[in-house]
Amino acid sequence: MSPASQNTIARPVRFRGPGVHTGIAAGLKIAPAEAERGIVFVRADLPDRPEIPAVVDRVSGTSRGTSLGPEGAGVKTVEHLLAALSGLEIDNAVIGMDGPELPMGDGSARPFVELIREAGIRRLASPRRFRRLGRPVALETPDGLIAALPAGRLRIACAVAFGDPLLDAQYRDLTLDPEVFARELAPARTFGFYREALPLFRQGLIKGTSLDNTVVIGPGAVYSRGGLRFPDECVRHKMLDLLGDLALLGSPLRATVVAIKPGHRLNIDFVRKLKEALDGSEQSN
Ligand SMILES: [Zn+2]
Repeated sequence: MSPASQNTIARPVRFRGPGVHTGIAAGLKIAPAEAERGIVFVRADLPDRPEIPAVVDRVSGTSRGTSLGPEGAGVKTVEHLLAALSGLEIDNAVIGMDGPELPMGDGSARPFVELIREAGIRRLASPRRFRRLGRPVALETPDGLIAALPAGRLRIACAVAFGDPLLDAQYRDLTLDPEVFARELAPARTFGFYREALPLFRQGLIKGTSLDNTVVIGPGAVYSRGGLRFPDECVRHKMLDLLGDLALLGSPLRATVVAIKPGHRLNIDFVRKLKEALDGSEQSN
């Protein structure tokens, strides 16, 4: 398969399960789409079937996950599916949803990778439109830092530090292609600190959280089904989230991305800044 052609999936595939925040079970159907369509969500359960393109302009929330579209007619927790589509180089697909939140699966992108591989990948006649930087773009906030540097391939280097005796600093650096993504990032699951769980429940969040979809850190031990999938599963999951958020650029990025303590809010603010820089430089070229 030529990496220079846009891709879609070969046939529709379906997946169902509860969302991690709302606890509401929803079904999704990933369907093939024509070139230049991009990734588009459709709330198939609502009148007029509103469409929500997976682009940063449509981000409506970054609290514990990335949400798109208006409250009540949007989609929540899109990042793991977007990471799977981006990681496997799917440029165009229509994601039909019959509920407000993406199914959480096992907390990683692996179920979506398996689904897309089950569907198969179809090459389209149009070229992929890579976004390339002319100069570095960086965003630093009190929470962390993300910088993108000009490069010919997508590479993500990420550092996290939580100051917890069970989870302190982790660092990972990967140059991504579909194989590397599927093997090194897709299996990394969502994680959370037990000490943070109660306030989140009180805010009405994480209603669907369980050990089936989340690695729980503390008290006293790391709790996860079947043990950790990688010793540094947490930093890998942060990279997975970042890849999913970067997909909201709407086109594949070719850059070296360096992230220190990324999170959805920082990721999305960074993607906005990156898009501005890319759009600006293309206009002046
Ligand atoms: Zn995540």
